[in-house]
Amino acid sequence: MPQNQPKVGFVSLGCPKALVDSERILTQLRTEGYELVGNYDGADLVVVNTCGFIDRAKAESLEAIGEALKENGRVIVTGCMGVHADEIRQAHPRVLAVTGPQQYEQVVGAVHQFLPPPTHHNPYTDLVPPQGIKLTPRHYAYLKISEGCNHRCSFCIIPSLRGDLISRPAGEVMAEAERLVQSGVKELLVISQDTSAYGVDLRYRLDFWNGQPVKTRLLELCEALGSLGVWVRLHYVYPYPNVDAILPLMAQGLILPYLDIPFQHASPRILQLMKRPAHAENTLQRLKDWRSICPDLTLRSTFIVGFPGETEAEFQELLDWMDEAQLDRVGCFTYSAVDGASANALPDAIPEAVKEERYQRFMEHAQKISRDKLAEKVGKTFKVIVDDIDAEAGIAMARGPGDAPEIDGNIFIESPGADQLVVGNFVHVSITEADDYDLYAQAIAE
Ligand code: SF4
Repeated sequence: MPQNQPKVGFVSLGCPKALVDSERILTQLRTEGYELVGNYDGADLVVVNTCGFIDRAKAESLEAIGEALKENGRVIVTGCMGVHADEIRQAHPRVLAVTGPQQYEQVVGAVHQFLPPPTHHNPYTDLVPPQGIKLTPRHYAYLKISEGCNHRCSFCIIPSLRGDLISRPAGEVMAEAERLVQSGVKELLVISQDTSAYGVDLRYRLDFWNGQPVKTRLLELCEALGSLGVWVRLHYVYPYPNVDAILPLMAQGLILPYLDIPFQHASPRILQLMKRPAHAENTLQRLKDWRSICPDLTLRSTFIVGFPGETEAEFQELLDWMDEAQLDRVGCFTYSAVDGASANALPDAIPEAVKEERYQRFMEHAQKISRDKLAEKVGKTFKVIVDDIDAEAGIAMARGPGDAPEIDGNIFIESPGADQLVVGNFVHVSITEADDYDLYAQAIAE
């Protein structure tokens, strides 16, 4: 773990509903890079999720707050007893903040205020975009299925920080997913450093969820997640052959026809220097095969330009590959050294001005592809999820199956009454217009 990782202790009291809230808070904090610790000593602050249902529970909650204050000193209170903030403050004036039940956004906000999330964002490897540090709205949630990574990409230090892949057993992942759905989540964003490798370390061990056997393997996990009746979106998938089996699930509508694959480059020599997983795979053919199984597939990826030794011809190879691959959504970074990464020892560093110039050319290229692909959607209808309302402009911001929150584009619903739509609800829209990254739509009466 990085030395400066902020550490949070957690005390969870009360009924199963409170537990769902605790899970939600913990999932959010863990996803943002907080370390969760099991004792008072090692924690930078402690969150106490209280119960206030009966007097005995209230007394127990006040006692737990007192203990946390004594042992640690920095305490945030949430949960049912939070509705009696005055009582809490009277008994324990030193608590940092008090929030009520099912106010997970507020409690995570309080944690941010008193213990800021890790500020260093590594665009190559961090699972949540920097904007993701803002609170995840209640209707979608990140679901982390494993920690660590078995690869040793030369620009990355994640394996030395977090170790080799450790998958969470499928039953545990499913229990968390189910709790998130019960707490109102409509879209699960599956994340890990290497989603395709899920379960390899456990030899795809059989686990149990609600008494049913479920293998700790991506295919079975996707089938189980698909049975929850919410949107399921896969991030950080590498194009291994085992992913082929997931495509039919997408074609059947069990999980979203969306894959986020961090390709990083297309030149075989650069991919080898990067020590990328699946660098020898024929990815163009694989993408073609996937699209023939699931024509609605949206592909997102990120790339690094200006990697040490990248020649103009190799950069051009990347642009040509992009023309062939026709990815829908693309992000790009100029290469920069990360302390401790083996790529730092590679010769032929690329001058900053060249990196910048390649970045601009890459983005122009990607923008044109994005524009053309979005233009093809005009006139089509989609089921979308409402993310936000702009009452002043009278519009709703939504996303379709092809748009992950924070990183992809928006669908702006402009029809009369759009500002009356409900955040977190699904609606059907007809696309009326497209620009480089976003779509515009009218809601369709149901
Ligand atoms: S796949 Fe490569 S870039 Fe991703 S975490 Fe593993 S080593 Fe790092």
